[in-house]
Amino acid sequence: MNAPLNARIATHEVENQPPPFAGYNAWSGDAILRATVAREGAGWIADRAMAMGQLVGSERMRTLAELANRFTPQLRSHDRYGNRIDAVEFHPAYHELMGLAFGAGLHSVAWTARDAGFAARAALNYLWNQGENGTSCPVTMTFASLAPLEHEPALAREWMPKIVAEDYDPRPLPLSEKRAVTIGMAMTEKQGGSDLRANTTRAEPAGGGAYALTGHKWFCSAPMCDAFLTLARTDAGLTCFLVPRSLADGTRNVFLIQRLKDKLGNKSNASSEIEFAGTLGWRVGDEGRGIATVIEMAHLTRFDIVIASAGMMRAALNEAMHHAAHRSAFGRRLAEQPLMKNVLADLALEWEAATLTAFRLARAFDRQKSDRHEQLVCRLGVPVAKYWLCKRTPAVALEAMECLGGNGYVEEGALARLYREAPVNGIWEGSGNVICLDVLRAMARSPDAVDALAVEIEPAAKAEPRLARFVAGLKRDLDDRATLETQARRVVEKLALALQASLMVQHASPEAADAFCATRLDARTGAVFGTLPASANIDAILRRATLE
Ligand SMILES: Cc1cc2nc3c(=O)[nH]c(=O)nc-3n(C[C@H](O)[C@H](O)[C@H](O)COP(=O)(O)OP(=O)(O)OC[C@H]3O[C@@H](n4cnc5c(N)ncnc54)[C@H](O)[C@@H]3O)c2cc1C
Repeated sequence: MNAPLNARIATHEVENQPPPFAGYNAWSGDAILRATVAREGAGWIADRAMAMGQLVGSERMRTLAELANRFTPQLRSHDRYGNRIDAVEFHPAYHELMGLAFGAGLHSVAWTARDAGFAARAALNYLWNQGENGTSCPVTMTFASLAPLEHEPALAREWMPKIVAEDYDPRPLPLSEKRAVTIGMAMTEKQGGSDLRANTTRAEPAGGGAYALTGHKWFCSAPMCDAFLTLARTDAGLTCFLVPRSLADGTRNVFLIQRLKDKLGNKSNASSEIEFAGTLGWRVGDEGRGIATVIEMAHLTRFDIVIASAGMMRAALNEAMHHAAHRSAFGRRLAEQPLMKNVLADLALEWEAATLTAFRLARAFDRQKSDRHEQLVCRLGVPVAKYWLCKRTPAVALEAMECLGGNGYVEEGALARLYREAPVNGIWEGSGNVICLDVLRAMARSPDAVDALAVEIEPAAKAEPRLARFVAGLKRDLDDRATLETQARRVVEKLALALQASLMVQHASPEAADAFCATRLDARTGAVFGTLPASANIDAILRRATLE
């Protein structure tokens, strides 16, 4: 019998490569996550999170994610007879991922759970984002669509049961024939995305409560969703509409997919350019109040981006720690090299602070209806965290990728994909500057939101002099109204760091909290990761961050 192929090719002995990173449980192995979710009131999600953690850590999930991103969605504008069909075809792996995500209630637990639904759903979404990010886009949009729909009870009665259904049904059928539906959003036009007031799409009454929409949308992700929230102008001004892809009589609504975007990040999810030409839509919210209506959706998508970013940081850290634990260079494992340990520990601090922030905001969502303080924390905390975590995720992905050396740069591994994906959350749903300006708007309209964040931070600042000093400096910045707009990034960064430090002081280990304050508040020691001071207890930080 022949020897194994590797043994017969002398130069192909595979040594010093890590074993495949699979077969772990991203939930049960993550002690900090479990403690955080329990503290924020959603310990009851443990069984579902366990199943999701098992899936995310499995070879099956890796394979699905790789296939869905390698075999990209294809636009089929017409059928073979020349009829327009405006369909996007996906690899079966994409559909399987969508089935797993929607089947797990990734989009709906926040709305269907009796208690701490946002924190519980956040746990699932945080885990999912460690596995595949393209499918997160329709998940997030479907989750967030329920906020504007609540304004239209008749539409809500029709659509909500199938929006929250824990199922995935990709068939292009009218609502009545579907088991479950997905919802997208189409706001951005060529002449303006951040400034939606520039939208030119028109809506004319078309009888029976419907409107006929004419115009274009320059970005429309997940165009195979069953309906889209969109903006168009009536005589009263910009108005929000729900545009279904199939009409009740079984025909397809006019929804012309012009082309698919050739994007930088994930390849599994299609993003498209579309045209409305007499497309039927149903009003959501009052005429002329379109932006106010969709802003509620944006608040939720921004929150979801915060959760996703924390999950992506965890994924990057896990990959780096796994590689370093098994790879040797210069006679020692990378995980034993003092400088590599510094890099990994610094990444772990960034991830832990992001995670604590994300789940603190989940609690705020869960309680905001009955608690004014939580409502204010939510209003200001979401854009602050969205800005900062989106800025930090690409840096974390980059540094984690470098920990793997050349392997990190190769598309077969998960990190190259994560790195390409990392910037998108900072661009869509409010690019950096726009989010910082939203923070200023929130502070101007609800000055008590700043007080609410101060109340959050105060107990930790009393215990940690570096945080107290940092907050005093931040207050001086906030008082300088004349320069606030030019300084908005600086101020929002400081707000984020103060909130993160207060959470670290309260909930992280003393070693992690101390190193976080030393490097993020006190002297900012370095612009890159791996610059923790010699006094930092790196071993203790890494012990807590290691997957069990
Ligand atoms: C992968 C992907 C998927 C997307 N999917 C969708 C989708 O499904 N539906 C949808 O509607 N849109 C979608 N978008 C579009 C996205 O939401 C917009 O690109 C985004 O809102 C920015 O709008 P814009 O591209 O028009 O840039 P602009 O609004 O022109 O902004 C350009 C830059 O100027 C900055 N800027 C704007 N105003 C100010 C100001 N007052 N002061 C200082 N700086 C400012 C912004 O921060 C940004 O950095 C998607 C985008 C991407 C990349």
